[in-house]
Amino acid sequence: MDTSLVKAAEVLAGSRFTLALTGAGISVESGIPDFRSAGGLWARFNPAEYATIEAFRQDPHKVWRMLAEMDRLLVRSRPNPAHLGLAELERLGYLQFVITQNVDNLHQAGGSQRVIEFHGNAATLACLACHAVYSRAEVSNQAVPPKCVCGQVLKPEVIFFGEEIPPPVLAQAHDLVSLARVLLVIGTSAEVAPASMLPRLAKEHGATIVEINPEKTRLTDELTDILLQGRAGEIIPALVAELKRRTTDGWPPVTGCSRSAPRPG
Ligand code: NAD
Ligand code: ZN
Repeated sequence: MDTSLVKAAEVLAGSRFTLALTGAGISVESGIPDFRSAGGLWARFNPAEYATIEAFRQDPHKVWRMLAEMDRLLVRSRPNPAHLGLAELERLGYLQFVITQNVDNLHQAGGSQRVIEFHGNAATLACLACHAVYSRAEVSNQAVPPKCVCGQVLKPEVIFFGEEIPPPVLAQAHDLVSLARVLLVIGTSAEVAPASMLPRLAKEHGATIVEINPEKTRLTDELTDILLQGRAGEIIPALVAELKRRTTDGWPPVTGCSRSAPRPG
């Protein structure tokens, strides 16, 4: 048994308030490329050129060439064992919230109940002119790019580069992270601010940082306490299995209180 995995299970079992911060890497095994995947979508559409709010305002038709391809990937993607494993950790009471940078809805599809969508969700679209909101299903019969009844091209409700995180979302993420005893940092390069600042905030408030990633990141040597190096779809199920093994072995001792309620502080 990998000693880092056993150590991570130990800190999770001993934590009263655990969060996961997830990034594009957790959805790679569902067929959605991250910004770092070789080839594929992002080799043809540079995010710095296509994923900025300026680009969308200047030429929404151009940006929709990228969005339409992204949407085709999102619509057919399914949660992988990493998403399912996090949902199981929540059910078992070992995980209180997921804060995700992803816009693919795969945590919710995998069964997670408490999900903070830091960068929004591509399943709804909004009009920048009259602020009407549509579901993806409502506009799926339209030609690309889909338009509002007022005539304006619709924008998926995701945070583009250059857009602000909605203040209530940012405030909730900060509050949760300051309470965390353990922060699982999964599949993020921690290059995109302000999400990249959450691990430091957690650490400053005393959290243990457990990182799950096949590669080292800018966090690894500076902040990470335990690195579980590998694919999230393999590591997270192994972590769930280790926690279950400990419970069936009679550890931690069973007490009267349920693990399932969030217990901050
Ligand atoms: P990133 O692309 O910058 O980094 C992805 C990280 O995941 C890398 O460190 C990589 O080593 C790691 N990774 C790759 N495969 C993995 C696996 N199987 N298991 C675990 N880790 C793996 O991603 P980011 O830090 O999230 O920043 C990208 C931004 O673009 C975010 O805002 C994100 O929301 C957005 N984005 C979202 C999606 C999505 O919704 N699925 C996809 C692409 C980009
Ligand atoms: Zn409109």
